[in-house]
Amino acid sequence: MNENFLQTPIDYLKGVGPNRADLLKKELGIFTFQDLLHLFPNRYLDRTKYYKIAQLQQTNAEVQIVGTITHIKTVEQKRGKRLVATFRDDTGTMELVWFRGHKWIKENLKLNTPYVVFGKTNYYNGVYSMPHPEMELLAKHEKGVRSAMQPIYPSTEKLNNSGITNRVIIKLQQQLFTEAHTSFSETLSQPLLETLKLLPKKEALINIHFPQNQEKLARSQYRLKFEELFYIQLQLIRKNVLHKTKIKGYPFTKVGEYFTTFYEQYLPFKLTNAQKRVIKEIRNDLGSNAQMNRLLQGDVGSGKTIVAFMSILIALDNGFQACLMAPTEILSVQHYNNLLELCNKLKISIKLLTGSTKTLDRKNIHASLENGELQVLVGTHALLEDKVKFNNLGLAVIDEQHRFGVAQRSKLWHKNTHPPHILIMSATPIPRTLAMSVYGDLDISVIDELPPGRKDIKTVHRFDSNRLKVFRFLKDEISKGRQVYIVYPLINESEALDYKDLMDGYESIEREFPKPNYQISIVHGQMKAADKEFEMDRFVRGETQIMVATTVIEVGVNVPNASVMVIESAERFGLSQLHQLRGRVGRGASQSYCILMTSHKLSQDAKTRLQTMTRTSDGFEIAEVDLKLRGPGDIMGTQQSGVLNLQIADIVKDTEILKIARSYAMQVLKSDPNLIQPENLPIKKAYNQLTKFKNIWNYIS
Ligand code: ADP
Ligand code: MG
Repeated sequence: MNENFLQTPIDYLKGVGPNRADLLKKELGIFTFQDLLHLFPNRYLDRTKYYKIAQLQQTNAEVQIVGTITHIKTVEQKRGKRLVATFRDDTGTMELVWFRGHKWIKENLKLNTPYVVFGKTNYYNGVYSMPHPEMELLAKHEKGVRSAMQPIYPSTEKLNNSGITNRVIIKLQQQLFTEAHTSFSETLSQPLLETLKLLPKKEALINIHFPQNQEKLARSQYRLKFEELFYIQLQLIRKNVLHKTKIKGYPFTKVGEYFTTFYEQYLPFKLTNAQKRVIKEIRNDLGSNAQMNRLLQGDVGSGKTIVAFMSILIALDNGFQACLMAPTEILSVQHYNNLLELCNKLKISIKLLTGSTKTLDRKNIHASLENGELQVLVGTHALLEDKVKFNNLGLAVIDEQHRFGVAQRSKLWHKNTHPPHILIMSATPIPRTLAMSVYGDLDISVIDELPPGRKDIKTVHRFDSNRLKVFRFLKDEISKGRQVYIVYPLINESEALDYKDLMDGYESIEREFPKPNYQISIVHGQMKAADKEFEMDRFVRGETQIMVATTVIEVGVNVPNASVMVIESAERFGLSQLHQLRGRVGRGASQSYCILMTSHKLSQDAKTRLQTMTRTSDGFEIAEVDLKLRGPGDIMGTQQSGVLNLQIADIVKDTEILKIARSYAMQVLKSDPNLIQPENLPIKKAYNQLTKFKNIWNYIS
């Protein structure tokens, strides 16, 4: 037998007929023996422990009790019948309840005979009850040999209802071990096993499904988690290495006129140490022969733009063109305006290209881009159109990359012999550990320091009932010459409803802040781009004091004079969104405020989000909380990366193991890049197997 045996379709396992096979595939994604083997228990129950009825507590999960049934009755309800058995031991009485299968249960249950019952309990009106208990006669129970720790496997309602209960899964696992245990070959190298004192694969598999004791279980879990994370890291790192050796970039060998002149004469402020460090990292990349693929992470307001600009200058110094892409029109206009000023000083040609660029301008841009006269192009998705052809694109900066697809990105360089260097800017802080898994194939730079002199933004939570006070505060701020944002949620599912909220809100704000003393801008997703821009512009120029908006302003807008951010229905926003929105203020010299408005009805998670926002302004700390609350599923990039399909490791909890796995993956590849040394043979085999059957490359750019 060889390991391919584990690729046998699950239909061929004894005990699995066509129906069960179908359900296992559909409900749990189990197609092969291997898939079943890798269906790891969620948790384990200690079946050595027995409870007395008098000991039961409302907080108990599953309990096991010995007692007898003294009475069975059928109770009629509006929603159908249920069968209720009175169950007692020497300490008290409780109920066993069935909603289905009455006939069979009535006919088979024995009165006044000791049973072991097992299941979840409910507590109602002073009585404990156990719906659909697992039951076994005590006499039989005592004869059976069972492992002390009973595995509980992931399941679905449908599986349960179709009779594929946890007990059935356990039987199937036992069958699988009988048939396939000889194909459980070792998948890590001997040196790794020894250095890290890891259990051998086979022992780990046995103990994850049928643990001998707690200690063995813990070691099995560690071993399997390590292995899973190790192979993900191995793939990511190998991809990164291959990329660097195979994909040549244009080496930008010199730092010339533009960069030096800018640095010496026009730098508008002193760079922070973090900015300096990151620029150095980028310069190193650009100077090497490999194509740069770098993610630049930095909190809102940390100063990524200047870093991008200085990188662009290096490209120009080496005779190349550069572009900067942003996800929205508003944002690209703002980038353009920022860079325009700097470019003018240095006599660099720069243009803006968006969906609303006029045909004639567009033609001119296309021409000057293709003949190389135009040095820098800023814009939206419009940059990706086929007609846009660069003469020699050397660097592409992409702001907020999660809105662009991979295929789209590659369009940028179809004319070049080498792909341009890529710098991706993201203001969504991702905890480092997650970034390691999601972007393990990118190099990451982090600006972890804000420019000096930033005042902390005072953040408070207010209930809707305090709205008048909040309005009064806004008036105070406006009278000092400040501007304010009032943001409403816009969530696609109920767009019409959100729109109504926004309009209702707008009307009440208009009443409260009447013209001509107050001028109000409004921006929302259902407006035309030109109208949005007009309204935005009035606010940027200070003609309006209040900006009422949906979350379209989330990304990148920069109005330093705005000092208050009011977020309506703040309980409906995710943490990272709240953090992004808050980052719109606190950009000028004055003290800024963020006011989170909510109703009184708040979920536990919503409370945690609000407390986190009022406690800290550290984007990375907020991201950690966000990750814990939501799991990795909603964090950008994770959907594609496969980190969600982890079988045993937990990307949030197992960060320590992840770090170790990553460092050993690096070590192994460093000493043996192609895995040809004999000791690494098991790794090579497992690696090939993995990439053959589950190609994670597809998910990653
Ligand atoms: P973000 O990282 O959110 O894109 P920006 O690049 O827009 O941040 O910078 C935010 C603001 O901080 C801008 O007004 C910018 O001019 C200013 N800024 C950036 N770096 C510094 C610095 N080192 N010292 C002072 N101000 C800075
Ligand atoms: Mg920015």
